[in-house]
Amino acid sequence: MSTQLTDKIRQLKAERNAVILAHNYQSGEVQDIADFTGDSLALSVKAAQTDADVIVFCGVKFMAETAAILSPAKTVLLPDKHAGCPLADMMTAEQLRELKRKHPGAAVVCYVNSSAEVKAESDYCCTSANAVEVVESLPRDKEIIFVPDQHLGRFVVEKTGRELILWPGYCVTHAAITEDDIKNARAAHPDAVVMAHPECTEPVKTISDQILSTGQMLKFAKRSEAKRFIVATETGIIHTLKKENPGKEFFAASRRAVCPNMKRITLEKVLWSLEDMHYKITVPKEIRTKAKNALDKMVAILPAK
Ligand code: SF4
Repeated sequence: MSTQLTDKIRQLKAERNAVILAHNYQSGEVQDIADFTGDSLALSVKAAQTDADVIVFCGVKFMAETAAILSPAKTVLLPDKHAGCPLADMMTAEQLRELKRKHPGAAVVCYVNSSAEVKAESDYCCTSANAVEVVESLPRDKEIIFVPDQHLGRFVVEKTGRELILWPGYCVTHAAITEDDIKNARAAHPDAVVMAHPECTEPVKTISDQILSTGQMLKFAKRSEAKRFIVATETGIIHTLKKENPGKEFFAASRRAVCPNMKRITLEKVLWSLEDMHYKITVPKEIRTKAKNALDKMVAILPAK
């Protein structure tokens, strides 16, 4: 990492009174320059609690939108305007409205990996860590639409024993991890514990040992007696796992599990973002108010994990 580059970022960050957030799936050098690393909701909550004027979100667009929803008075910057999320893009607000028309009376639970417009059409938000609890908190006889990730949705169905109306969205990066990848990784590291993200496909989850969100993976790896882990999620998290657990080993389940959108963010782009104050992410007030309501209702059920 160029010290000159990181020095410039730090200097400009101080001048702008900015806070830099990096999602767990960012490259190691971007994570290392950040004030906070973590999952998208936890980062947005942390940034809202700071007195920074500017938030630089090293992640994808829906994450910067979530930060803008929770911090309307701060300027939120996404260092690459093309850093989107194919999963979030798999459902539009109009498609959700259509689904609601087909199921009047159903409650809508939407995964945070969704656009601000989809959140605004939803009753509750959830994360991959608390999706099960959010659904369980709703009355047993309530019909529930769960969007946009079908694999997280199926995981919730399995855990709660409830029927959900699912949307066929999926994360292309997690879908790239196959059952054979897990079998091959197990053959190479027979004593390793397999941790899989709920966005993975069902065959992958069925043969994994632990189904965990990124935040839960970090906690689990720390307290586990195991020394070796196979990680079935975006490979960026291995940087933090290694840093936090120097005596343990972590192996990517698949080298294909790299999100090209997450990796659009580079140190140079973080610097340019602070220099030129781009790309500003804003959410119109009406959408922001409704989306915040869905996020607040999740937090009222249980604190974000
Ligand atoms: S890893 Fe998947 S869900 Fe996350 S930003 Fe990339 S495509 Fe979207």
